[in-house]
Amino acid sequence: MIPYGRQDINQADIDAVIEVLRSDFLTQGPKVPLFETVVSKRVNADYAVATNSATSALHLACLALGLGKGDCLWTTPITFVASANCGLYCGAKVDFVDIDPQTYNLCPKALEEKLIVAKKNGKLPKVVLPVHFAGQSCGMDRIHQLSEEYGFNIIEDASHAIGGQYLDQPVGSCNYSDIAVFSFHPVKIITTAEGGLATTNQPALAEKMQLLRSHGITRDPTLMTKQADGGWYYQQVDLGFNYRMTELQAALGISQMQRLDKFVKKRHVLQQRYHKLLKGLPIKLPYQSSEVYSALHLYPIQLKLKNLGKTHKQVFDELRSSGLGVNLHYIPVHTQPYYQTMGFKQGDYPNAEHYYSRAISIPLYQGLTLDKQDQVIKILTKVLL
Ligand SMILES: *Cc1c(COP(=O)(O)O)cnc(C)c1O
Repeated sequence: MIPYGRQDINQADIDAVIEVLRSDFLTQGPKVPLFETVVSKRVNADYAVATNSATSALHLACLALGLGKGDCLWTTPITFVASANCGLYCGAKVDFVDIDPQTYNLCPKALEEKLIVAKKNGKLPKVVLPVHFAGQSCGMDRIHQLSEEYGFNIIEDASHAIGGQYLDQPVGSCNYSDIAVFSFHPVKIITTAEGGLATTNQPALAEKMQLLRSHGITRDPTLMTKQADGGWYYQQVDLGFNYRMTELQAALGISQMQRLDKFVKKRHVLQQRYHKLLKGLPIKLPYQSSEVYSALHLYPIQLKLKNLGKTHKQVFDELRSSGLGVNLHYIPVHTQPYYQTMGFKQGDYPNAEHYYSRAISIPLYQGLTLDKQDQVIKILTKVLL
């Protein structure tokens, strides 16, 4: 089976992890801060806070911005459930903005229309959380303008997008947002097995996320309510979690970061070949905005069902049984049973649902050889022609 995505682990990665196993610290040592520095420098952000997953980083980002009961978070329906769940963790309401049918990202125009209505009803969101789907940055310039006009905060879910750029700036630089979040799950661009990281240029947000990542406990005298009782002393000044990244994960992350640019370049080579070699098939290929250098996490195609004698499900099953580990990103979040209990219905976000009814993610990862890619193309051609 050729998977749709896969990690790339070399001897340097293995050596880096083993070195930590033999060292004094498995957690809370020097590697996590070093990894944070490596990432923040690379993406041009002032601060980075590493966590045990992107899901926890999204939760911390929402808390740092003060999201809570009575507030609302808006995101896209075409994302992993974690982008929406983080709002619910904070007791906030979650709502969705439909996608742009070309980029599959949260549509700035639909956002504006929804904001106009929300303003009239006095129900403006506190946080808008655009997701850089498949590694292609959203139209952040416009979303940022709207944030100034309507007064909301922005968290970028950049889980797919490390190594990508928007208007010649690295994704994660937070030029158009308060916080950006990366995921290092093995199917993403680089991996730490499990892991995530939030970047920001606002010291207060970084401090809050650092505090909440580790139980709300501080050893910093300037954050304490009184003088330390002694050398052992710490204070819990907030209610936090154990969302820490381990030294093993950070060492792997530092090693993977050395190859980030190579990984993304390889994904572009594969994309170019797909663009060229899939042209004649009854499918819509993913669009690339000229404002963006995508990290190319995914290669989502859409079936032109009218020109195909097969259903979406039939094509998917035939690809799977021919040895392609295809997948579908994503089931629109508002159609999940848990979200339907909140009142969301089929039909609420037509562009997202239309996309879902014909989308398939085909293999794209740095370790995919050109020979293997040719095999993928052959199978697709056999199933679709
Ligand atoms: C993978 C992913 C997440 C969650 O990442 P974890 O590190 O697995 O918690 C969140 N949002 C998006 C868009 C993702 O793809």
